[in-house]
Amino acid sequence: MSGPEKKKFRESAVVVLVRGEGEALEAFWVRRSDALAIQPGFMSFVGGKVDAEDATLELPGVADEAERAARACAIRELLEEAGVLVGLAPGVPAPSAGVLADARARLLERRATFVEIAREQAWHFAPEALEFAGRWQTPPFAPVRFDTLYFLARVPEGQAPIVLPGELALGEWVRPAEAIERWRRGEHTFVAPILWALRIMLEGGPDLAARLANAPRRAATPARQIEMQYAVVLHAMKTRPLPPASHTNAYFVGESEMALVDPGSDDPEALEELYRLADSLAAQGRRVKTIVVTHHHPDHTGGVRACRERFHAPVVGHVALSPHLALDIVVGDGDTIALAPGVGEWDLTVFATPGHTRDSISLWHARNRLLFCGDLVPGGPGSVVIDPPDGDMAGYLSSLERMAALEPRVLFPAHGSPQGAVSRRIRALAQHRRERETRVLAALGHEPRALAELLPLAYDGTPRSLWAWAERSLLAHLLLLETRGEAAREGDRWRKG
Ligand SMILES: [Zn+2]
Repeated sequence: MSGPEKKKFRESAVVVLVRGEGEALEAFWVRRSDALAIQPGFMSFVGGKVDAEDATLELPGVADEAERAARACAIRELLEEAGVLVGLAPGVPAPSAGVLADARARLLERRATFVEIAREQAWHFAPEALEFAGRWQTPPFAPVRFDTLYFLARVPEGQAPIVLPGELALGEWVRPAEAIERWRRGEHTFVAPILWALRIMLEGGPDLAARLANAPRRAATPARQIEMQYAVVLHAMKTRPLPPASHTNAYFVGESEMALVDPGSDDPEALEELYRLADSLAAQGRRVKTIVVTHHHPDHTGGVRACRERFHAPVVGHVALSPHLALDIVVGDGDTIALAPGVGEWDLTVFATPGHTRDSISLWHARNRLLFCGDLVPGGPGSVVIDPPDGDMAGYLSSLERMAALEPRVLFPAHGSPQGAVSRRIRALAQHRRERETRVLAALGHEPRALAELLPLAYDGTPRSLWAWAERSLLAHLLLLETRGEAAREGDRWRKG
């Protein structure tokens, strides 16, 4: 975990690579590998972060330095990730497939930079071959935010994109209608700008680049609808969660009837924004049927009362939540939250997943293998605080195991970014806890020690600003070790068991 410092944008570039016209228009898209830290398993277009070196590529006629670097980044990334070279100036001879393959290999193996290769091959670029296609900024829920320039490019005659195994799991040409259809069936997950690009390609009409460039404006009107999975709309509300999070993700889940999960803020402006989105969804025939609360922490319950009145919808939660919040419907492990079907079934299964708190529940959409996990798994770096006695390490570890065993395809956490490759990530978290436990055990001696003495031994890598929370998790580990006879307590001091 890091401190609550301001998140800076990372500059990046994306290429919407297309071929064909009209009905036959296709885009080249890729599936990101499950091993990536950002958007694992998501579909995306080719692109990446701007390198320091990108700004040094000669691109005549582009005065703005950030734009020049982004264009250079787009050209370089397309060669690295797809083996396609775009943007050559008229008169520059097209490189052979062999030259391109060699340049790509040298780039990927870091034997040469793109600027070096361009110089040596006498590649001169005409920036207008990449048409500006919009600027998108990652909304504030994400732990890493990108400021991304999109560019539209046509695949040059005689070239064909090929993805090499590694960061990308596959690459393919797809018609926008087909891509959107698969998304509606729940087969694909991707960030909002991808959906916009596909929809705009499907709409048809002249000047595709200009229409793509206008999409960020359209996306904000009347309300920003972030729908990475069909019928799962993410709306981040500014709350006061534990650092490094700053927002709680509320989710609208379902097609015609929706469950609203964790509206966490009671700030009037934040609620107005949520209502605007709900109204916009209502205009699409989607109605809030029920409000589901994953656990009692205030950054998950803040807006519940207001939303109950606004939507005339019952509040649903675990029985252990009822001392904290008035519930209309109490649910337990295995219960179903019924939502009207649409393209497919939308019922959600409730799983009791104690550990972070006693009343924690997760919601499972079996058909698309989607898991709404509340605070069980964070959507970014760091780990969840286990604060005894409400928090319980043994319960937490078995909840993790149980959710990993479901083999979810997409995880929708209450804080941070949704992600694919879920089981892998959940198992890594459980492993991290086991390693911590080993360190806690090693910190114990035959002489009893206070928590404050054990803390620097077991949590020395954790920033001091978070030690108050780390101490609670340390206690949770000790209590679990105590149940196994590996730690013993004398007053509030601890020794080997
Ligand atoms: Zn919480």
